[in-house]
Amino acid sequence: MSQSRREFLRFIVAGSMAAGCPIDLSLLAAPGGPKPDVEGEQYEICHQVRDRQVFARPPVSKRHDVVIVGGGISGLSAAYFLQSYDFLLLEKEDHWGGNAYLEEYQGQAYGTGSAFDFKGEAGDQLAKEIGLKLLPVNSPDPTIINGTWVADTWRAGLDHLPYPLSIRESFKKFRKEMLALDVKAHREQLDNEPLTKYLAGYAPEIKLWWDSFGPSNWGAKAADTSTLVALEELQDWAGEPAEDDRVTLPGGLGAISRRLVEILMAKHRERMLGGVTVVAVEQQKEEVQVTYVHGAELKTIAAKAVIMASPKFITARLVADLPDEQREAMEAIRYAPYPVINLIFDKQVYNRAYDTWCPGSSFTDFVVADWTVRNQPGYRAKNNILTFYTPLAPSERYKLLTIEGCRQMAANVLRDFQRLLPEFNVEPIEVHMYRRGHPMFMAMPGTYTKLIPAARQPMERIFFANTDSEGPESLTDGAVTAARRGAEWVKQRLAGHSTRQADTEAMQALA
Ligand SMILES: Cc1cc2nc3c(=O)[nH]c(=O)nc-3n(C[C@H](O)[C@H](O)[C@H](O)COP(=O)(O)OP(=O)(O)OC[C@H]3O[C@@H](n4cnc5c(N)ncnc54)[C@H](O)[C@@H]3O)c2cc1C
Repeated sequence: MSQSRREFLRFIVAGSMAAGCPIDLSLLAAPGGPKPDVEGEQYEICHQVRDRQVFARPPVSKRHDVVIVGGGISGLSAAYFLQSYDFLLLEKEDHWGGNAYLEEYQGQAYGTGSAFDFKGEAGDQLAKEIGLKLLPVNSPDPTIINGTWVADTWRAGLDHLPYPLSIRESFKKFRKEMLALDVKAHREQLDNEPLTKYLAGYAPEIKLWWDSFGPSNWGAKAADTSTLVALEELQDWAGEPAEDDRVTLPGGLGAISRRLVEILMAKHRERMLGGVTVVAVEQQKEEVQVTYVHGAELKTIAAKAVIMASPKFITARLVADLPDEQREAMEAIRYAPYPVINLIFDKQVYNRAYDTWCPGSSFTDFVVADWTVRNQPGYRAKNNILTFYTPLAPSERYKLLTIEGCRQMAANVLRDFQRLLPEFNVEPIEVHMYRRGHPMFMAMPGTYTKLIPAARQPMERIFFANTDSEGPESLTDGAVTAARRGAEWVKQRLAGHSTRQADTEAMQALA
């Protein structure tokens, strides 16, 4: 395909760089100073919040039982669980779902973030409750290395990796020794040690593999990865008996967000406010005051209780009077920039496995968007949509600031894909990129056992939900679990129980 033909390729960039108000300073301080292309954010007030300026807040205009801040899957689930209360859900984007959000091309859904849950976990349970059946993936993950497609990488695949025997043996030894570790018994210790400590002495190709797998799943390379998180994953991926309990639908877990929105909008449209940015949350004696920007207007409302379902790095700046230790914990959680690129082909290019790993590429792995429905009766595949995961290091966040930077990343993904196998040398009809500046909290040493427990302590009338209240890694399961706990906590608080009682009862309700 000639260069000029490629220039005509339709390239669409969506998504939001600032995960919320206030915009992250690092976004404005890109090397070389490219002008950020992040229109539509409420800069003036956001800058005041960022700089911790005190700005005039209007008097309370309305009162609710509960206000939920953030309409990702955690906030949406909390609203769903609290439907019998007078709730108000506030979301800064003009669409709902946060990182569990799907888009469509000619009626075919594809993911822009969260891909799959595990059978019976909180996301799957909620899906059932709202009438959605997530379908089994049933496809062990292959890896493409040096032009070779290797099935079931971490089990039978270890004998077929295109490496010298000594390296294949090193992979097997690592697997055997890591699976023999008693992860449950040493959770705290393992969570506080970097994975590189356990990779020492093995072939460097194993680290290369984790440097791809880690960023895709929890935003961090081996040196920044909690060993607990990596080994729990390994038990799942490489343990015996071989079992694939992943479930999903086209569009990934954005399918759950979409259904939640349909249900909530049908019954409670007036309680769902999109396109509003919360800029301050202040606990008073008998209520919590929440100030938000809506268009050019600043409004303050009050609630008996608030659920903060926004990520902690934003929450820390919005909530007044957080205890120092809690604020520091919230601020210490790190978030990875993570664009997702969808290549849309008008013919079948790849349909051999659900999720294929490609260490050493500009992307970590790619999934087949319609994998779980492709053999369903009556389904006719129109286009072949492949979703490429392209996590970045925080130091690379600036690359997402300009359309040109995004175009370059997408071009690299396309180039690397086309070079993987000869049959991939096909031009897509469209390239869609969804960019996010801080979507995934990084499962770094200590995040799960130290930072998260300190960051999520409820205040008198404020509960902290979002997936970064759960861990060990950023999962929809955690987002929904935090919402269930939050909803139960709010019910107990509104029934007059103390914060401590509400917390205990919320925990018990979930157990
Ligand atoms: C590329 C990618 C792939 C992933 N794959 C998987 C997967 O396969 N399986 C899985 O389980 N998980 C996966 N995850 C993780 C999963 O998507 C998240 O854990 C989950 O979606 C988090 O939901 P949440 O509601 O807790 O937070 P978020 O999705 O972060 O939602 C927070 C919401 O708050 C809003 N907000 C922020 N600030 C404000 C403000 N000031 N005012 C109002 N609203 C505000 C944001 O706009 C956002 O909508 C993936 C994540 C990414 C990025």
